[in-house]
Amino acid sequence: MSAPKTFSEARTALAEGGSVRSATEAALASAEAHKDLNAFLELFPDTALAQAARVDAALTAGTAGPLAGMVISIKDNLCYKGHKVTAASKILEGFTSLYTATALERLLAADAVILGRTNCDEFAMGSSNENSAYGNVKNPVDPTKVPGGSSGGAAASVAAGIVQVALGSDTGGSIRQPASFTGTIGFKPTYGRISRYGLIAFASSFDQIGPFAHTVEDIATVYQVMAGHDPKDSTTSNKPVEPVTLAHPGKLRIGYFREGLERAGMDPEVVAHLQAHIDRLKAEGHIVEPVEVPLIDHQVPTYYILATAEASSNLARFDGIRYGHRSTKAKGVDETYRLSRSEGFGPEVKRRILLGTFVLSAGYYDAYYGQAQRVRRIIRDRTLEACSNYDLLLGPTCPGTAFGHGAVTDPIAMYLQDIFTVQANLAGVPAISLPTGTHSNGLPFGIQLTTAPFAEAKLLAAAKGLF
Ligand code: GLN
Repeated sequence: MSAPKTFSEARTALAEGGSVRSATEAALASAEAHKDLNAFLELFPDTALAQAARVDAALTAGTAGPLAGMVISIKDNLCYKGHKVTAASKILEGFTSLYTATALERLLAADAVILGRTNCDEFAMGSSNENSAYGNVKNPVDPTKVPGGSSGGAAASVAAGIVQVALGSDTGGSIRQPASFTGTIGFKPTYGRISRYGLIAFASSFDQIGPFAHTVEDIATVYQVMAGHDPKDSTTSNKPVEPVTLAHPGKLRIGYFREGLERAGMDPEVVAHLQAHIDRLKAEGHIVEPVEVPLIDHQVPTYYILATAEASSNLARFDGIRYGHRSTKAKGVDETYRLSRSEGFGPEVKRRILLGTFVLSAGYYDAYYGQAQRVRRIIRDRTLEACSNYDLLLGPTCPGTAFGHGAVTDPIAMYLQDIFTVQANLAGVPAISLPTGTHSNGLPFGIQLTTAPFAEAKLLAAAKGLF
């Protein structure tokens, strides 16, 4: 049996006499067969098969949860009690989670099987998965290309058909950009919609957990299981989770980002594809009008000032004292901190800790951190205004398609990968990348839909009904 690519295929196999155990075995075999992708840092065969057996028994008893039969991978920054978690960093090598992330707990309670943990950029910092301490991930569509990042292994695990759903995290685009690069759907819900408890923090005011899948139905199914208030994360919202029906949303008001068509450096085929959707949507009777990406040239700098500032604080806990890597060469406390961190963190993480510490330092706080906070507020306000004028905002996910391993070496060029994705994180709004395009170079690419905070039901219905 080959591993089912979607939940509906998995359910069909179950209805035809298959078992969750056989689906899990098929997924484990598929992960082995795709080992060269380096998508998984570790498979969890024992707990996955034990969960599969429990779910099979629940199916027989008629007590199975809504995700019975679904096989999921988790990014290596999500804690799963009793399992290793490293954030793809040497500094956490050998560390075992002491508790389970709330999002994951809810998936397990709904009877999903967790297959293993996926490779990513170290501490989710990157856009190509090349910052992992455990090697690059290959893009299943074309192994000479990167899968995007930071949730590169997650995207690859879905694109290769190993699992039906992958959990990733999105701080500045880390679900949507790899989705665009691998031809999968990637969804970042509203900030505060899914608990971050048990997600290793990168930039706490931006981080959000979200799923990858092949169908909007599968995205909607796992989203609804994970969403909702969690007393363990005070930034989760109390707002009730709107049921997602995926009913056709009818005629909508759609704003498209003109920068997606006009900005220098855009791949002409991505532009033509976006234009074709705009024309089609108009022809179908929707109101489709241009809108501006607010302060587009300030977005990436604002994000990198605030995200690195938060990261420098969040990553201070990795000090070689309490857990994780401790230098064996160190003598005394100061040297233990210094050498453990110097040996444990990779170059991109160090760059960001230095940058974040700098923008928070006494002489520069107002000029950088304070100023970036003010710019973020303007970007957020203007984004919310656009969201109140339109049901849906439409634009590209990325300026182009997946690039080759080692092809982007300049950090600034890499940061510019995030030009269209950071807005949703700066503003806290939900956004989804849909794999609608195929380039003449053979690679997939996505378009991105954004909407108002907590309007996930409308966003997903539009994603299903209009694209
Ligand atoms: N590429 C962005 C960064 O490197 C986004 C990362 C993310 O969303 N985790 O910060």
